[in-house]
Amino acid sequence: MKAEIIAIGSELTDGAKLDTNSQWLSQQLTDLGVTVHFHTTVADDLTENVDVLRIAVERADIILVTGGLGPTLDDLTRQAMADLVGAELTLHEASLAVIREMFASRGREMPQRNEVQAMFPQGSEPLPNPVGTAPGIWMEVPRGDGLFPACIAAMPGVPSEMRRMFEKQVKPRLPVSARVIRRARLNCFGLGESHTEQILGDLTARGNDPEVGITASEATITLRITARGDTEQECAVKIHSASEIARRLLGHYVFGTEDEELQHAVVQMLIESGKTLSTVESGTGGLLSHRLTDVDGFERCYVGGLILPTETSQQRELELTAEQYQQHGAISETIARELASQCRTRLGTDYAIAITSDRGGAALTDPAQPAAFVAIAMADDVLTQPVIRLGDSTMHRSRTVKTALNLLRLRLLNVEPSRS
Ligand code: AMP
Ligand code: MG
Repeated sequence: MKAEIIAIGSELTDGAKLDTNSQWLSQQLTDLGVTVHFHTTVADDLTENVDVLRIAVERADIILVTGGLGPTLDDLTRQAMADLVGAELTLHEASLAVIREMFASRGREMPQRNEVQAMFPQGSEPLPNPVGTAPGIWMEVPRGDGLFPACIAAMPGVPSEMRRMFEKQVKPRLPVSARVIRRARLNCFGLGESHTEQILGDLTARGNDPEVGITASEATITLRITARGDTEQECAVKIHSASEIARRLLGHYVFGTEDEELQHAVVQMLIESGKTLSTVESGTGGLLSHRLTDVDGFERCYVGGLILPTETSQQRELELTAEQYQQHGAISETIARELASQCRTRLGTDYAIAITSDRGGAALTDPAQPAAFVAIAMADDVLTQPVIRLGDSTMHRSRTVKTALNLLRLRLLNVEPSRS
């Protein structure tokens, strides 16, 4: 069973609006075990709308359409569906009564223009919309001998109306099989995408069940595991066995599952070991502190942080001198080390993380030079790691914060960090 999603609207094709409906609909179909092969986005143009519907009917069994059901001249979905099968638009009295009633309940008279929303291609079925004026359209298009008809469900573009209509009207009509699809994510840090793939070997081969795909976001590598089966239980077993193999191969690079980030792993480990943490940041605008305080229960281990964005503020708050900056540079291993150990003493914690970073690396003349240094101070040692700039300033800050959290995570695991 193949599905296609068609999002209609010139505000989508010209970039004024993001098409979030297609993403949501795809997630729903995937959960129902239907694979979505195509997303099509098309402007408010009748001929083009008919064209994309025709192509969709040739290549997909289920076609979900959103947008273009309003009362204005640029809302062409119903006409396009009628043209697709060569049918007339006819008035559906019951739908018209509901639309009239909707206006009346708001103390308004229905504008003439809205009557068009009660027009449906002959042979199609109206899908009621109790939360808006535009009903949806269900239409089955014959596709020749031996083939099931293609099902087209047209829904409003307004996301809340579309979601309701999908749940209540479209989902029960879909010719879906009982097959189940379940997904899981495993999050890793410290390796690149291709290196991860190399380590995982056959596990990521195409056509596997479960399928294991790799994506990267700001240096976090995520393994996306997709299992198909007849029951939830069958999918759970497949996901468990693929996760176990991946964990064994990737070892300490794996830090969490689903929405877990490095800060969740670090906070949990600190709480479990009864240790405390403080932070000092320069060049990240408090991003490290922000992420730590986002974790439920952070109060049990994170005592607070200093945001010291300038050399002057660092010299004022800590025991650092202008000479040290002249000699080593603000973004240097020495300054990172000093910041970490002085922060740890000043805030009285077991560990302190320091970051000294260029705000975005824009001023760097040599891109091979580290754009940041991170340091972890503990009772008997200070660990440091340079961070080379990759990507824009948002990416650089995020990677720097992650590198710092990961350095502490590895220390808490007693793993020697590899230089990356
Ligand atoms: P329409 O049904 O085409 O009149 O769309 C009504 C409103 O829904 C538009 O003004 C958009 O703001 C919103 N909308 C339409 N299509 C989408 C989409 N694919 N994703 C998110 N919002 C949408
Ligand atoms: Mg529109």
